[in-house]
Amino acid sequence: MFISLKWKAVVFLSVILVLISTAWIGQNVYKTILNYETDIREGHQSHQQILDQMMSDNSLKFFQFARLISGKAEIQGFLAAPPDFSMSEFLEKQWASLNISIGLDYITVLDSKGQKFGEAYNRALADSMVSLSSVLEQYNTSELRRKSHSFVYCQETCIQFVMEPFIFSGGEEGVIVLGQNMADIVWRYHEASSSDIVILIANDNLPERKKLQHALPRWNSHVWTMSRFDNLQPVLEAYSVKNDISSINTFELFTSADEQYLLKSLNLLTPNKFGAHAYFINVVNETELHQKLTSSIWSWITTGLLGLILSEIVLIFLMLGPIRRLMNIAEALNLLPEHRYQEAGKLVLRKTSYINDELTQLEDNTRLVSNQLEVLYDEVQKTNGDLNAQVKTLSRSRAFLTRLLDNPNVYILTQTKEFNITLSNKKFKRDIKSSDSNFLKLFSNQKTKKTFIKEIANLTKESSKVYQNEVIMQSTGEQALLISWSHALVEDENGNEMVLSIGMDSTQHRKDEIKLKWLANHDSLTKIGNRRAFMHDLRGLLDDHTQGAVVIIDVNRFKQVNDIYGHVAGDEVLIDIAQVLKNKVLAVGSISRLSGDEFTVILPSMSVGDLGVFLESLSGALKRKVTLRSERVVEYNVSIGAALFPDDGKDYQTLIAHADMAMYQAKKTGHNQWHIFNESDDNSALLKKDHDLSGLIKMALDDDLFQLVFQPILSIDTGRVQHYETLLRLKDEKGNAISPAEFIPVSERLGLIRDIDSWVLDHALIRLSDELVSNPELKFSINVSAPTLQMSDYPMTFVDALHKHNVDAESVIVELTETAYIENFNQVLDNLMALTGEGAGIALDDFGVGFSSFSYLKQLPLKYVKLDGSYIKNLKNHPDNQAFVKSVSEMVRAFGMRTIAEFVEDETTLTMLDALGVTYAQGYYIGRPESDLLAKDFRLEIL
Ligand code: C2E
Ligand code: CA
Ligand code: CA
Repeated sequence: MFISLKWKAVVFLSVILVLISTAWIGQNVYKTILNYETDIREGHQSHQQILDQMMSDNSLKFFQFARLISGKAEIQGFLAAPPDFSMSEFLEKQWASLNISIGLDYITVLDSKGQKFGEAYNRALADSMVSLSSVLEQYNTSELRRKSHSFVYCQETCIQFVMEPFIFSGGEEGVIVLGQNMADIVWRYHEASSSDIVILIANDNLPERKKLQHALPRWNSHVWTMSRFDNLQPVLEAYSVKNDISSINTFELFTSADEQYLLKSLNLLTPNKFGAHAYFINVVNETELHQKLTSSIWSWITTGLLGLILSEIVLIFLMLGPIRRLMNIAEALNLLPEHRYQEAGKLVLRKTSYINDELTQLEDNTRLVSNQLEVLYDEVQKTNGDLNAQVKTLSRSRAFLTRLLDNPNVYILTQTKEFNITLSNKKFKRDIKSSDSNFLKLFSNQKTKKTFIKEIANLTKESSKVYQNEVIMQSTGEQALLISWSHALVEDENGNEMVLSIGMDSTQHRKDEIKLKWLANHDSLTKIGNRRAFMHDLRGLLDDHTQGAVVIIDVNRFKQVNDIYGHVAGDEVLIDIAQVLKNKVLAVGSISRLSGDEFTVILPSMSVGDLGVFLESLSGALKRKVTLRSERVVEYNVSIGAALFPDDGKDYQTLIAHADMAMYQAKKTGHNQWHIFNESDDNSALLKKDHDLSGLIKMALDDDLFQLVFQPILSIDTGRVQHYETLLRLKDEKGNAISPAEFIPVSERLGLIRDIDSWVLDHALIRLSDELVSNPELKFSINVSAPTLQMSDYPMTFVDALHKHNVDAESVIVELTETAYIENFNQVLDNLMALTGEGAGIALDDFGVGFSSFSYLKQLPLKYVKLDGSYIKNLKNHPDNQAFVKSVSEMVRAFGMRTIAEFVEDETTLTMLDALGVTYAQGYYIGRPESDLLAKDFRLEIL
């Protein structure tokens, strides 16, 4: 149970104060009562003295008078006096004056034997005379007669007697007895003491008549006399009813009619031996004194109580301050466990003062403790926070580790330096056939295993080196897996060295790589080598300074085949040619498809003589009738040109140009002809064509006969077109359109391509700047040929043009076309970097054929990769192509780039491309190249 200190202090102090004031009041009341009692006793004593004084005065007076009387001759000479002298008469004669002058009520003269010589008395005493005589007789025998003596005798009346012995003349002894009624004294006493006196006489031996007057039956007595009857009689009666007679010896007050009386017996100086028992009771009205007493008691009590209240108030007032402070301290201490330090601090805040006490010390200490606790608490909180954060990080990293460990994409295991597997993740257990827990047993290749053992032994903790290897391992499935492992030395929780091995399944990756490599070097239609492979091979041979021949085969009137039988038929013809070439050539050389209907053959170490025979047989083999799948029969033949190296050209360009010329020569001669290059050959046809084109191109550049068209590129995800490829158009004098596919290679050969590219850039930017006003998100892809991109000042030209037309580089994508082999790769790389630095995007065109190779993906700062149209055109019918598109788009995405598919000619293809993860689509289905921008929204159509 909690009782506030405030209340405890109040109660405690109040109890003390009450005790003190009670003691004080008690003491004073006690003193007052004591004084009062003393007053009463002293009052009584003085009354006693008054009575004594009166009695002794009386007896003295009577003694003197007795002596005076005894000296009278009549008395002296009585014995000798004649017998007729009556003493009584004499006394009677004296009586009147005696009675009046000194209040005498009785006189007698006795002889020494108590013989009465005569007497005289007040009539009022007549009743008492009989008994009085017997009393005096008793005195006869008493020795007391010989000296002066005084006594009181009460019977019917109370009388004070004095006995004075004297000597008769003649020597006889005699006694004079004088008596006075005590009623006199009562009266005088009342006068002198201003108190009252009551004389009671016991009823013994008294006649009934007497007993009835003023009787006090309980006390067996009656009132003989009292100073004031009317006032005192009722008091006395009431008193006698309530108290024993013995009470008159005490000082107890008696209350009657609201007045206090003291009834107390008085003693007589003179004995009262002979008569009835008599009580002399002093009755004092003590009401005034008593009232004084009670009022002074009350005044003590009230002053005491008043003092108590006052001091209580003062005390509480004095204590309240310190107690409040104490309570504040208590409350402050209570707040500490709840960490409410600020409030606690405020509670014990105090003004600086010079007078300090324990309380201020307590406050200071409480504040100090609070501050220290606060600091501690903050630290603990902080530590807790840190701990929580650490625990969180720990559990997060634990979760991370578990996730990492059970990562479905990697194999994770630890092994001892003896290669015993101590721990492995789910994927490892699931995928790898491991009956044994020894890592070495999983190696199928002994050489790889030996190297691995050696390399692991070389690993040290300090070097923190990682050993990487690729291991073919038996899987739980059908195929063995190629896993790329990274091994590092780590310490386990006990400080033991362990090997941590993390492996990735490279099987598919390797397959893709192999396929891509294959694709990069092969023609997807005919499955024979492509232009890139051809170039690579030929350059290799030229660099090795070997001898040989290069052959170019062109299908005669192939365009007609396409036009008459359709593209599918054309494709079938091309495949057939490839098949024939494989059969005829592969034993002696390599074959490839250069473009459309152009094939090449490289024949190393072929001599001039052998070449003629070979070409003859080849041209024979390539004059064929093919039955198509449509069961239609197509006839075709070829023109073949050949050049020998190093005689006809030491470099690729020359050699190809010469082989090309030889081919034209053969074509000119007639169908199904072959020709070996000869310096004296007539190349006028080819040269004329070139000449005509170059004239046209120059004219077009001068007279602005070129025209740009724009083909939309669709973002498959958003269904929006923000992006267009600019394509160049040229018309001859007759208004016939000449395909860029035709004039671009010629321009490259004649060195005009740079001018064309610059014209295109300029005009594309003029248009773009115009269009950007209404569509700020618009982007133009601009085709830039390899020779242009090899110029060291190209980035400058590019930036100047941007400034000139006030276009941001962000709005421009440079498409690196594959029409020519990049001779100076580093320069192109630098330039592309510079363009990227400006903000332009780079797209690699015609990926999958020709020169765009897998390795470019890694080296060039590309943003877009354009899948060559040949993969897209027949996508739905070629699962191979689908697989290629899928793996390329995945890889491209992994490099952070986007794919654009060209030649999207129908909706099925578009839907397919979406599923295969391609980002953009371009083709006749989206929109043909037009001079207007076709911003067709595809969103609805895709969905
Ligand atoms: P490219 O850069 O691969 O351009 C794509 C070619 O495919 C264009 O032929 C285009 O008209 C055509 N094409 C677009 N969609 C489809 C389709 O759905 N189906 C089919 N069958 N064809 C489609 P174009 O305009 O004749 O250009 C041929 C090549 O000439 C271009 O190939 C590019 O290498 C080059 N070229 C075109 N314009 C320029 C230019 O301004 N500068 C340079 N340096 N080269 C250019
Ligand atoms: Ca292009
Ligand atoms: Ca292309």
